[in-house]
Amino acid sequence: AIAALALTGCGRSETPSGGASGGAGGFEQNSSIGVALPQKTSENWVLAEKLFNDGLNGAGFKADVQFANGGVSEQQNQISAMVTKGAKVIIVGAIDGSQLGTQLKQAKDAGATIIAYDRLLLNTENVDYYVAYDNFKVGELQGQALLDGLKAKKPNGPYNIELFAGSPDDANAKVFFDGAMSVLKPKIDDGTLKVLSGQTNFEQAVTQGWKAENAQRRADTLLTGSYSSASLDGVLSPNDTLARAVLTSVKAAGKPLPVVTGQDSEVESVKSIMAGEQYSTINKDTRKLVEHAITMVKDLQAGKDLEINDKDSYNNGVKTVPAYLLEPVIVTAANVKTAYTDDPVLGPITK
Ligand code: BGC
Repeated sequence: AIAALALTGCGRSETPSGGASGGAGGFEQNSSIGVALPQKTSENWVLAEKLFNDGLNGAGFKADVQFANGGVSEQQNQISAMVTKGAKVIIVGAIDGSQLGTQLKQAKDAGATIIAYDRLLLNTENVDYYVAYDNFKVGELQGQALLDGLKAKKPNGPYNIELFAGSPDDANAKVFFDGAMSVLKPKIDDGTLKVLSGQTNFEQAVTQGWKAENAQRRADTLLTGSYSSASLDGVLSPNDTLARAVLTSVKAAGKPLPVVTGQDSEVESVKSIMAGEQYSTINKDTRKLVEHAITMVKDLQAGKDLEINDKDSYNNGVKTVPAYLLEPVIVTAANVKTAYTDDPVLGPITK
């Protein structure tokens, strides 16, 4: 199972030997470095584009950063083009982590090192490293926040909730959901939480393409179908974009706002938390994630072993990918004023 366990220590470890390891090490400083980003489904991706361009070019590499707003085939073509341009490292934030096998093989055959960024690359031997926030932990924090928020509103259940998940083609979506359900499922089983729609499986909860309109439409349907007389007390939402879509739906229905979770610390959601509407978000500072990805590139350029802090958690169906996981932080009204003090955008807003 793809489940991120607790961090297992932060020491430097050996580059795995044999197989798809990071290459013999060392390439020219001014080499091309490809960064294949998915669609602009949340602010973090947009920010990553600028950070990769600035950080890689600033370190003397040639940054080749591409978005694939047109979808999977566009991303496939972009990765092939990066290989043709001679990229020494290709960093991939996949739209669909299981659809890039051919291009990743081309890249490896050409001698590039592949780093999966934020989302794991699935069912391929041709991925060397993974750098991400601990996705299972994100889900656990969301599940716990939902419970805490419900209890704060009224001390005793039962509570009526609905569950939303991310896009099924994104490898993270199931991991977020499983992390949240590790907290919520026992409470559903003991009757503390009731899902009136009965839609408790990942497949029933997914939101294609992480699109707000899809979440809003499903929320509309759930409200009409199951909550015409009952109250909806809480909603598990996997990110901020979808959280705001759910809140929009509830407002349009003229219902009291439920406790709604989120992720990404998007500006509008942080404001919503301060205004007492969205209950929680997750702080996964994109600057730190990009910075670590660039550190990996620098270490590869210098022929050094990469810093890996998780060797066991992320099996992609073919291999366990050595990972560097960062720690996500839950943010609610209780800590929103102190959570972003060093963030140039959110710091001033939350003062
Ligand atoms: C990222 C989330 C983001 C989502 C939609 C996921 O893979 O980890 O931070 O909310 O994609 O863009």
